[in-house]
Amino acid sequence: MKKITFLFIVFTQILLGQNNISLDYYLPQNISFNQEIPTPKEIIGHEVGEWHVTHDKLVEYMKKIAEVSPRVSIENRGETYEGRPIILLTITAPENHSNITEIRKSHVQLTENSGNSLNTENMPIVVYQGFSIHGNEPSGSNAALATIYYLAAAEGNEINDLLKNTVILLDPSLNPDGLQRFAYWANTNRSHVLNPDPNDREYEEVWPGGRTNHYWFDLNRDWLPIQLPESKARIKTFHQWMPNILTDHHEMGTNSTFFFQPGEPSRVNPLTPKMNQQFTKEIAKYHAKALDKIGSLYYSEEDYDDFYYGKGSTFPDINGSIGILFEQGSSRGHIQESENGILTFPFTIRNQFTTALSTLEAAKNLRVDILNYQREFYSNARKEAAKSKSSAYIFGDEKDAAKTYQLAKILESQKIELYQANEDITINEKTFKKGYSYLVPKNQKNHRLIEAMFDIRTEFEDSLFYDISAWTFPYAFNLDFEETKTAGDRTNNITLRTGNVNEQSNYAYLFDWHEYYTPKALNMILNKGLRAKVGKTPFSLEGKDYDYGTIMIPVQNQKLNKSELYEFLQKVAKEAHIEITSVATGLTKGIDLGSNDFEALKKQKVALIVGNGITSYDAGEIWHLFDQRYNMQITKLDTDNLGRTSLDKYTTIILPNIWGSALNGTATQKIKDWVRNGGTLIGYRNAVNWLERNDLLKVEFKKNEMTAKNITFEQKQFFSGAQVTGGAIFKANLDRSHPINFGYKNETLPVFRNTNIYMEPNEESYNNPIQYDLNPLLSGYISEENLELLKGAVPFKVQRNGSGRVIAFTDNTNFRAFWYGTNKLLMNAIFFSKVM
Ligand SMILES: [Zn+2]
Repeated sequence: MKKITFLFIVFTQILLGQNNISLDYYLPQNISFNQEIPTPKEIIGHEVGEWHVTHDKLVEYMKKIAEVSPRVSIENRGETYEGRPIILLTITAPENHSNITEIRKSHVQLTENSGNSLNTENMPIVVYQGFSIHGNEPSGSNAALATIYYLAAAEGNEINDLLKNTVILLDPSLNPDGLQRFAYWANTNRSHVLNPDPNDREYEEVWPGGRTNHYWFDLNRDWLPIQLPESKARIKTFHQWMPNILTDHHEMGTNSTFFFQPGEPSRVNPLTPKMNQQFTKEIAKYHAKALDKIGSLYYSEEDYDDFYYGKGSTFPDINGSIGILFEQGSSRGHIQESENGILTFPFTIRNQFTTALSTLEAAKNLRVDILNYQREFYSNARKEAAKSKSSAYIFGDEKDAAKTYQLAKILESQKIELYQANEDITINEKTFKKGYSYLVPKNQKNHRLIEAMFDIRTEFEDSLFYDISAWTFPYAFNLDFEETKTAGDRTNNITLRTGNVNEQSNYAYLFDWHEYYTPKALNMILNKGLRAKVGKTPFSLEGKDYDYGTIMIPVQNQKLNKSELYEFLQKVAKEAHIEITSVATGLTKGIDLGSNDFEALKKQKVALIVGNGITSYDAGEIWHLFDQRYNMQITKLDTDNLGRTSLDKYTTIILPNIWGSALNGTATQKIKDWVRNGGTLIGYRNAVNWLERNDLLKVEFKKNEMTAKNITFEQKQFFSGAQVTGGAIFKANLDRSHPINFGYKNETLPVFRNTNIYMEPNEESYNNPIQYDLNPLLSGYISEENLELLKGAVPFKVQRNGSGRVIAFTDNTNFRAFWYGTNKLLMNAIFFSKVM
């Protein structure tokens, strides 16, 4: 009765804007709390749920708790792009803390061969609890305040028993930059008289929103490729601790209730053991019971899946752990009308808090079974691995050490053992050069993770995917790979080779365009005001072969004198990790260095269209590519201001995926004039439709004209869902002589595709330098109808328009920062468009 009255008061007071929320609203009843432990309000100045906690306040509270509680320690594992700490709290009984290194070591030993002799009866279970990886799904991080208070301050046998048997790794903000961005939005638009009207500005964040990190990446797709600092920190913790359960607290649409895994049973990755899903189901009973108790609606076994291992709730499943996804209907701001009545921010926090605690209760009760499951997972994996004997994957690119290094680095961070061959190995006419390739023996501990990363799959139980259906890493990196026998030596020290210029030249310098960081080098050279040219034809000189796209820097008539030029190029070679060769003559076998087949290159000034109507992921990937990989300046032009901005100074403008009427008539006309006057406009995905509509590009599309036959209303969703190409990998054939393909050594290229835009090829074959194969599916799901359309279609087009160029890519060449294999296509479009 007391509780009901209390709830009623909270409810009405929130509506009246008196904001009289109390910490008791969240906490379990009839428990005493240690008065020495400060409440969140005592440190951050407001009650949990009264305001959206900013990341700095969150950190302040966590630090304070670690300072005063013998149950809690804190560490900073790195920095986000905006310099925020990536903290982790370790929470366990004080007697465990004094012995924490031993506990960790023996826990990890459970996954080793020597773990068979360990007694799991007395071992604590390890639970990793992660909150709000999407920054604008804030109930998780705000619940972390109440969770840490409870874990530090609660008294009695129950908490003592829990902490004795559990090590909790609490990651209160999986996305600090996104959380901060969203808190700023929700707080600055909060009214004193809280307003639940969904039309209020509070509930309509401005572009790009707080979901993503600094470069607008979805961090919950990066657990496998680990390209971003936040992921790097948490994957390190994961492998250090090998947690048994990992939870991932999210939010979904305002009209939804609460979801917990297991998800859709037919969409579990087939590499995940059945037992994993059974434990998930067993744990789910604890969530259901806890939510029943507080009267909250919920559901499971629908909507969400467990397929892509790059997600936080699925990654653990291939690593002997159990990943659990929570999704809370979002109040987005402080209070909002919904189909389930008024949805308050505190209510959403309470559900997250409640399931954080039910997870811990499940962990404690199922402790020994789950520990044994983890041990068995690895012992079974070892047995499977042993069957592969000395079999290994070999990957590499004999002309690109940097790209090879980047994949090796991911595998190393995922604790996969690598070997280096002592000599060149040739398999199926592909050469795996020493120093440019690595071997991955299948017979090793993380055998299953390797299979997940090298997986090639074209058949599926279900035709609906929450995310991508393929991510085969050697394809993503466009590296040669084969199966072979393990050979060579184990390597623990993967390094990116330092670049070099062999000696000073009086005549010219040359470098091949194959290495990943060559655009960085060329950009440095052109920015310095130096003259450089690109060779359109292969040649050989002084015993070395040079391919299409070789860059030549003459010594004569430059801004720098001979020795300054040599010194500068040394710096370029080092920073871009490339070999620059000094030559003494211009007389070659093939085109001479003074030939007209060498075309002069210009310094580039690139702009990227961002803002309302642009897909922020796609734009962010390009911003990140320029800023982090190639050290190239890129100006972000907002769609709202484009009509008022002079475009004259830009040589190239990139238009990422666009929807709606993002660009008004004035802006569109401005872009058209700018192209005619010599600009290069590069459009991606839906921008290709925009280019066509605005007469900037002539293109014929192939269309999927399917109509439903014998499909019931109930089946409608599956019918249309099956036609979505969520993300799969396809084989394209390359005309290597075309400048868009400079730097590619193979005649084929794996291309990632997540659209259904199909361009007809041009009648003239030389206008189709990249064309999908007649048997294009390499890995992933695509419907039969769409596969037919894709055969022979082209993902790229270039067209002259006045003195400018319009370039179209139907596919994303910069996908999620780990699709290294096609990054060079964009750079070629920028530096070589005038040669096309
Ligand atoms: Zn989310």
